[in-house]
Amino acid sequence: MSFTQRILLGMLAGIVVGVAVNGLAGDSTAVQTLLIDGLFRVVGTIFVALLQLMVVPLVLVSLVCGVTALGDPRTLGRVGGKTLGLYLITTAIAIVLALSFAMLISPGEGFVISDQDIVYDGNDPPPFADVLINMVPQNPVRAMVEGQMLQIIVFALLFGFSITLAGERGKHVINFFTDLNEVIMQMIFLIIKLAPIGVFALLARTFANEGLALIVPLAGYFGTVVVALLLQLFVTYSLLLRTFGLSPMRFLMQMRAPMSFAFSMSSSSATIPVTLNTLETRLGVQNSIASFTVPLGATINMDGTAIMQGVATVFIANVYGIDLHLTDFLTVVLTATLASIGTAAVPSAGLIMLAMVLGQIGLPVEGIALIIGIDRLLDMLRTAVNVAGDGAVTCVVAQSEGALDRQVFADPEGMLSAAERRAAPHPDH
Ligand code: ASP
Repeated sequence: MSFTQRILLGMLAGIVVGVAVNGLAGDSTAVQTLLIDGLFRVVGTIFVALLQLMVVPLVLVSLVCGVTALGDPRTLGRVGGKTLGLYLITTAIAIVLALSFAMLISPGEGFVISDQDIVYDGNDPPPFADVLINMVPQNPVRAMVEGQMLQIIVFALLFGFSITLAGERGKHVINFFTDLNEVIMQMIFLIIKLAPIGVFALLARTFANEGLALIVPLAGYFGTVVVALLLQLFVTYSLLLRTFGLSPMRFLMQMRAPMSFAFSMSSSSATIPVTLNTLETRLGVQNSIASFTVPLGATINMDGTAIMQGVATVFIANVYGIDLHLTDFLTVVLTATLASIGTAAVPSAGLIMLAMVLGQIGLPVEGIALIIGIDRLLDMLRTAVNVAGDGAVTCVVAQSEGALDRQVFADPEGMLSAAERRAAPHPDH
């Protein structure tokens, strides 16, 4: 059995076991303590921690290598501009899609609110100005300790450029970073080997806790989000990739590993090691592009989250019987696009930003309490789309820069390993 098949089997088994435990023994304290909060939690949490542990060193080292390989700050400016533009455009499309589709289906009409539904006190989202200010670290070590992705990116960009400017002396430093990158890749390969067990435990725990019964009263909302997510995946990204001459089917096939990791962990950020590896070794994107676009995308590009926010807005407006006008829709598109930049790439972060979107158009923030019950399940699905969006934009940017190896992209096996890829002479180097 291939490795991906084992991961998929782990996921499926996790869901089946979780649903069964929820249905058969959900009330038993022994099962809860020993199995759900015991075995499943320990194995699942350790697996996520192992991947998260790699994120900061990987992003720093890989981006420093990437920037020095790009060499010219103008190239980075161009790549940066394209990437940012595409991330914002795809998010705006996602939210327009979600709003239009939700208007068509009108989820939430006739929904009856019970008193216990309407308590929600979430955290306040950060103001957008603070998001900008916080991009620049005052202390790089603190940025790494706190895992502040945008701050780490800014530091790595400056550091990488300065290595190039330092000429001969800088070469020693870049050699060290290139070797270190290889060591980090090997660590990631080791950790990824545990994935089938890790995703099994994560999904078994989630489904044992949540069950599927919660979906029933909210089936309209749930279904609308799912269809909008599928449209984004199969229509928006497909058109985007096609426009640049890339096969959407091959893209989706090659992206199945990062998408299943994102689904199991509900965190684009913890998925970065897998996304980066897949884009380089299976889709043929050069490290100089992917090392920049992937961590940036995991942090600021959240199309799936934007879709949930769009549908949730219409749903909550319907439940409270509030009419939305064109200006409200435009405000939602703008706020949700900007909100996705400020949404941390961790489980359930999207709900906090939803509070900001609702507040902007004067909808009751307590409405979030209605959908919180099934957010855990939707979070998994939307995180997979978030990661697919990062991948699609990365491929398109790489293709437009002549930094995508079409042979690798077209090959179902991709490159066997990053190590082999770097060892082999590359036509573009
Ligand atoms: N879990 C999502 C992510 O990490 C963010 C969210 O929508 O809550 O991409």
